[in-house]
Amino acid sequence: MNAIQNIESKQETLTPVDRSTFDEVMVPTYAPSTLLPVRALGLDLWAQDGKRYLDFTGGIAVNGLGHANPAIVAALHEQAEKLWHVGNGYTNEPVLRLALALTEATFAERAFFCNSGAEANEAAFKLARKYAHGKFGPSKSRIVSCLNSFHGRTLFTVSVGGQAKYTEGYEPLPPDIDHIPFNDIAAARAAIGADVCAVVVEPVQGEGGVLPADPAYLQALRELCDANGALLIFDEVQCGMGRTGDLFAYMGYGVTPDILTVAKALGNGYPIGAMLTTTEIASAFSVGAHGTTYGGNPLAAAVALKVVQTINTPEFLARVKQATKLLWQTLQTIQSDYPHVFSEVRGSGLMIGMALTEAYAGRAKEIAKAAENEGLMVLIAGPDVVRLLPALIVSDAQIEEADCLLCRALDVFLDAAK
Ligand SMILES: *Cc1c(COP(=O)(O)O)cnc(C)c1O
Repeated sequence: MNAIQNIESKQETLTPVDRSTFDEVMVPTYAPSTLLPVRALGLDLWAQDGKRYLDFTGGIAVNGLGHANPAIVAALHEQAEKLWHVGNGYTNEPVLRLALALTEATFAERAFFCNSGAEANEAAFKLARKYAHGKFGPSKSRIVSCLNSFHGRTLFTVSVGGQAKYTEGYEPLPPDIDHIPFNDIAAARAAIGADVCAVVVEPVQGEGGVLPADPAYLQALRELCDANGALLIFDEVQCGMGRTGDLFAYMGYGVTPDILTVAKALGNGYPIGAMLTTTEIASAFSVGAHGTTYGGNPLAAAVALKVVQTINTPEFLARVKQATKLLWQTLQTIQSDYPHVFSEVRGSGLMIGMALTEAYAGRAKEIAKAAENEGLMVLIAGPDVVRLLPALIVSDAQIEEADCLLCRALDVFLDAAK
């Protein structure tokens, strides 16, 4: 018997765990639900207690193609039997095919791969600084970002993000970062000057409350960047990969960035992120200027390639637009049936926020919990917005089911609130 057979022959006994184990062994950075998922398929998810849920969270915009999508599972299995990892001293076939697919599909000519949205943005901000320093000297270092934006949790990306609560206690923070109000062209004009190396914006703010940028705002940022020699970075970590009905949101806006960051749905749950840019800008990153061990490893790249190939077809994106129409109609009806609860349905495509009225401000979490009790998983975006990010493969029947479950949850919530 060889060593591998020896391992296989050992009877595996798993330690029993449940939700309470979390509080015993995990660093308390999260407060997970009592629902403990153990298995899922498409938008159906089963908890440890056997109860079925309809998942309208999409793993926070990650599972664009649903759970355990057969095509993606097959791509994973196929690559898993060939080559998992070689390190960046070697390139590999899946990552080259993925880079070809992404550069063919977008404005970009070059790709850098990493493992998360924060890392994609970290690469983008470092590249913007390096590019400006090389071309204009070290005084062109300022980064302009929007209030309420979210760009990740590394010290640099969280400092660029526009939510003070996420940087409190981590000072000193990296300097030369300014925050301006989102969708305010006058503020952008006042803030973007000759010392700015980059302006970063989410075309649709996600964590900040599901707020789409005005087309004129993105156009103004483009013009201000061009006039000041600054790079325009679009963070499409949440709104990219088909979520708005276009492969990337910038395509729908008709405003092209210099750097595009993507992650979340790119791997459908397998961790991968990417920074996409032009040849000229990419050249500021010479050999050794940046890197990461796992970035673009064959397993992640094979999965992501299948995801891109699946989403980037006219038929798939047309269906996303069709599902968008039905879901928006459904939610707008709910809003008009519960006008005292919801003030607005907003967002883009299948990235939707239901904003609470003044009367119910701060109670998004309670509504999400009530929905979960009825069997519907939804998210929040801050205390005042219920957020829906269903998988892009959501069916009409699943939208109707979500409608019933959400209305029932609202009735229970309002009964208890009386
Ligand atoms: C989630 C998110 C990030 C961070 O991605 P991680 O993979 O959590 O590091 C960055 N930007 C936006 C817009 C996001 O929604």
